[in-house]
Amino acid sequence: MSYVDKIIADLEKKNADQPEFLQAAKEVLNSLRVVVDSDKTYESVALLERLVEPERTIQFRVPWVDDSGKVQVNRGYRVEYNSAIGPYKGGLRFHPSVNLSIIKFLGFEQIFKNSLTGLPIGGGKGGSDFDPKGKSDNEVMSFCQAFMTELQRHIGPDTDVPAGDIGVGGREIGFMFGQYKRIKNAFQGVLTGKGLTWGGSLARTEATGYGLVYMVEEYLNTIGDSFKGKNVAISGSGNVAIFATQKVQELGGNVITMTDSNGFVHHPAGINLDTIKHIKLVKRGRLTDYASKHGDAVHKETGTGRVWDVPVDIALPCATQNELNLNDAKALLKNGVKIVGEGANMPSTQDAADFFIENKVSFFPGKAANAGGVGTSALEMSQNSERLSWSFDEVNAKLKGIMVDIFHNIDDAAKEYGEDGNYILGANIAGFKKVAQAMLDQGII
Ligand code: NDP
Repeated sequence: MSYVDKIIADLEKKNADQPEFLQAAKEVLNSLRVVVDSDKTYESVALLERLVEPERTIQFRVPWVDDSGKVQVNRGYRVEYNSAIGPYKGGLRFHPSVNLSIIKFLGFEQIFKNSLTGLPIGGGKGGSDFDPKGKSDNEVMSFCQAFMTELQRHIGPDTDVPAGDIGVGGREIGFMFGQYKRIKNAFQGVLTGKGLTWGGSLARTEATGYGLVYMVEEYLNTIGDSFKGKNVAISGSGNVAIFATQKVQELGGNVITMTDSNGFVHHPAGINLDTIKHIKLVKRGRLTDYASKHGDAVHKETGTGRVWDVPVDIALPCATQNELNLNDAKALLKNGVKIVGEGANMPSTQDAADFFIENKVSFFPGKAANAGGVGTSALEMSQNSERLSWSFDEVNAKLKGIMVDIFHNIDDAAKEYGEDGNYILGANIAGFKKVAQAMLDQGII
């Protein structure tokens, strides 16, 4: 049995109840065969055994009081996965689906993503099964304060620096930062995604969506093409989806779909982003409202159609994990899709991703394509350390540079290992090599 097969067999035995984590770990490990099978050093120091096991897993209760005076209890997590190249860094997700499997999959992916940015940040992830949807601001504050009351023991500007993710935006980061500062009596850059008047970075809000589009744009440049006139399907209507849409539109592409958990809108004339921002960022409402404001748009409820059945040139899934399955991949290909870029983390199932690669669709995995968010978070950390604020244009230019570099690194790695155009393999290998070298250098820890 090969080294990688041994690791996978052991993982399946120990983590049988963690399907999302197994999916993510197997994808990475399978890509690494060509590296670790040809160099026995890795096996001799049990490098993969150490890589797949988090350095620390913290699980805690979060008791808080709702508006009716009732005590609620949620479960909180922080998985500090790997600190070989820098302090743990990765978002916090508040969503009812959150469990240890999801946090471990996200934390594991984060190690390689952070490595790809070229910046000194390790991998971690956290969150809670708390659902901010339908809660008052007061309830969200009460929850965030309770969550941070425990989390503050484990994090710090040189130890672990969380950020936002699904369900955690500027409001939640603010409440958590306030509680951290109150308990520690220290104003520190311990969270990223902060407000602009208290240590946040310009362009952080836009960074993940913009970064995704910069990577696809760089690929298009290399084949002498551009976004101009291309029809683009985007899923999600949250932070990543909104700013990916904005950048595609700026570059002359036509975004014709968006989704939320209740369904999707198809607007062939082009999504009106002002309407979306009003519904999602101001009213915190549902996409069903969109069609009532734009008569030529259609809304389909979940279960009555798939967003990926809409014919497009480029698909950018930006909602959540496993939202694009093999049937969706087949429908996209049949309708002529040429490029798929993942704004979300692992939005394509493994068979869908394999199908894209086999059929020569240019497929950019989330760990590379959505790295602009964490890259800009690391720029926020630098500004906090220097007690300086850079301009929007400065940060945006650095973000673009990071995404262009990542594209060329993963492209080069794919070519080096004889799999030209396989950006999954390229991203996994390029991300792994740097972390692995740091682990080798630092001894058995
Ligand atoms: P938001 O909470 O802002 O938006 C999430 C969007 O996805 C919403 O439209 C939401 O719909 C939809 N969604 C969430 N869960 C589900 C589900 N189970 N089924 C259907 N739709 C769902 O999150 P972000 O935009 O920040 O994150 C989106 C993705 O991008 C995630 O995978 C995240 O991990 C990833 N990502 C985010 C980064 C960031 O900087 N924000 C950085 C890197 C990756 P509804 O409103 O109905 O819930």
